[in-house]
Amino acid sequence: MHEQPFSGGPAVDSAELIWRDGVPESARFGDVYFSRDNGLEETRYVFIGHNRLAERFAKIPDGGHFVVAETGFGTGLNFLATWQLWQRQNTSESAVLHYVSAERYPLTREDLARALALWPELSGLAEQLLENYPPLTQGAHRLVLAGGRVRLTLYFGDVLDAWHALDFTADAWFLDGFAPACNPDMWLDDAIAQITQHSRPGTTVATFTAVGRVRRALEQHGFSMRKAAGFGRKRDMLVGELAGLEAASTKRTGPVAVVGAGIAGCLTARNLAERGVPVILIDSADRAGTAASGNLQGALYVKLGVEFNAQTQFALSALTFSQRYYQPYTGRFWHPTGLLQLAWNEQEQSRQQRFLARNRYPVEILQSVDAETASELAGVTTDKRGLWFPGSGWLEPGALCRAIVNHPLIETRFGFHADRLMPCNGNWHISGCDGADIAAESLVIAAGHRSPELIPIRGDYRFKAIRGQVSHLPDALVHSPKAVICGQKYLNPSNGQVAVTGATFDLNDQHPNVTPTGHQENLSELAEMLPGVVDLAQIAPEAAEGRVGFRCTTHDYQPVAGNLTDGLNRPVEGVYLLTGLGSKGLTYAPLLAEYLADRITGQPLSLPRAIQTRLNPGRMHKTTAHSATKHTEVSVETAVK
Ligand code: SAM
Repeated sequence: MHEQPFSGGPAVDSAELIWRDGVPESARFGDVYFSRDNGLEETRYVFIGHNRLAERFAKIPDGGHFVVAETGFGTGLNFLATWQLWQRQNTSESAVLHYVSAERYPLTREDLARALALWPELSGLAEQLLENYPPLTQGAHRLVLAGGRVRLTLYFGDVLDAWHALDFTADAWFLDGFAPACNPDMWLDDAIAQITQHSRPGTTVATFTAVGRVRRALEQHGFSMRKAAGFGRKRDMLVGELAGLEAASTKRTGPVAVVGAGIAGCLTARNLAERGVPVILIDSADRAGTAASGNLQGALYVKLGVEFNAQTQFALSALTFSQRYYQPYTGRFWHPTGLLQLAWNEQEQSRQQRFLARNRYPVEILQSVDAETASELAGVTTDKRGLWFPGSGWLEPGALCRAIVNHPLIETRFGFHADRLMPCNGNWHISGCDGADIAAESLVIAAGHRSPELIPIRGDYRFKAIRGQVSHLPDALVHSPKAVICGQKYLNPSNGQVAVTGATFDLNDQHPNVTPTGHQENLSELAEMLPGVVDLAQIAPEAAEGRVGFRCTTHDYQPVAGNLTDGLNRPVEGVYLLTGLGSKGLTYAPLLAEYLADRITGQPLSLPRAIQTRLNPGRMHKTTAHSATKHTEVSVETAVK
């Protein structure tokens, strides 16, 4: 299998444009992005019309989806025209248009804005695209637009790598590279073979070119092709369909029970509900966001690895996705103050130096700053340099959880102590301690450190609960920073009453309440990291306030998201795990919820295969020998060995 090209950090080269008579041309390929006659009409004629999208879009029911795949995102004109048609033809609240596109040389945001300004009738959609346009880093970016009715998976990299990396089945293809003579790579036999791999009987294809080699390759890979009249000055174009019996339309996803109303469970519930899936959200507490997600403040933070590997790619994708996800909540639950990752000791200084020497990151993700700039940005004096993340900040996770579970398709069952999860008559049953029972077609276990006890497959799992205590510093006793500062400890800007600092990382301590020792540790390490921010003489650890939460972590500190498997690596139908988010829950949860909802609904997956493997629940089995069902009546295929 093709591996993603992880070397030299994530930034990719952007397109070099030449503007002739207001129309963009690629300096690299020597071809235009769209017809000089009328690009929008060309898109409508060649791609939209010949894939019969108007009639097909109108037939997609509530909860359904349609997948368009494209080679060469370019200026996004095809995408916006397709989105516009979707809006006109499909009025369902919950049907989703997926658009999957690969682009080797993405336009900068400025060039994209200039190119899209040519189409006033698309300006509203262009604005949304520009607001969400990701930083130019390699790999897959998922953009959730139009309140979730349109989902764009934009892969920055070579088209062949994209089709190897991504999981999706297209209903219609737009083959829109530059002309085969200017860009032969895009039309290689391998790339066309991949198009078939991502198609099903009935999938259609349209392309502006009528080159015989392209037609023959598509035919060899199963498409029946024909010529049609070309647009404008072009004589011909090609249109085709993958032969075979058309697959039955996708079945609707039945009710999903989500156990755990922390950030992971709430975001998953909301994500599914917006796709038309009814959800029962269960928690033993009397409301959402009370356990580890109940802290007053939480930072949006990841530590990016020195090596740019799949793990770093995941952390980066999660960070940028979550920044986009929380954006609509700015000023309510989300405070994008920026975040400073201090080079607080020698080891971290050396790590940051190696990180910067090896990698190239766009400045909108992070910048290296000296001590003077760091002090200015953070609003407190430091003599250390660091990495500045301008798009990060802090959240009020509990309040956010409570707001987002308010959706007509989410039924909340709070105060329900889930005890046993069992399959019965094609459903899953969740029995409560008090004898009550909830049934659903599928289950998501998102119960943080309590998840392992709920897994309906006996086994030895590699989860650990790690206690974390935070301390609340009253405004009068702290010099509040302007931005989040992370190092030995983190410190948030004041929320108007307190600034939260912490957290302890207590491997062998299970004490459920705050302790003076925990406060002492938080305060002294904070004072060491940022002298002058707190006056230790004025805060007595015995009198300090704070909170304790338990993180659920894994042996490799990577989260777990996907279909549960038994000890023999066989999927347990209808059961999904979403846990092990450690102390990065606020950053990881939005993208993992998106990915899990993709999986549950059978829609294109937002995460590439290399990352899916890292999140796979199967790796959590310590041994395979003793795996068995916990309950003998369980009919799931889980052999007792
Ligand atoms: N669909 C675009 C639009 O709506 O503006 C126009 C696409 S333009 C004709 C072709 C695009 O393919 C360019 O943006 C180019 O950078 C991209 N491209 C060329 N070779 C590629 C490759 N091997 N992999 C991915 N993208 C490629």
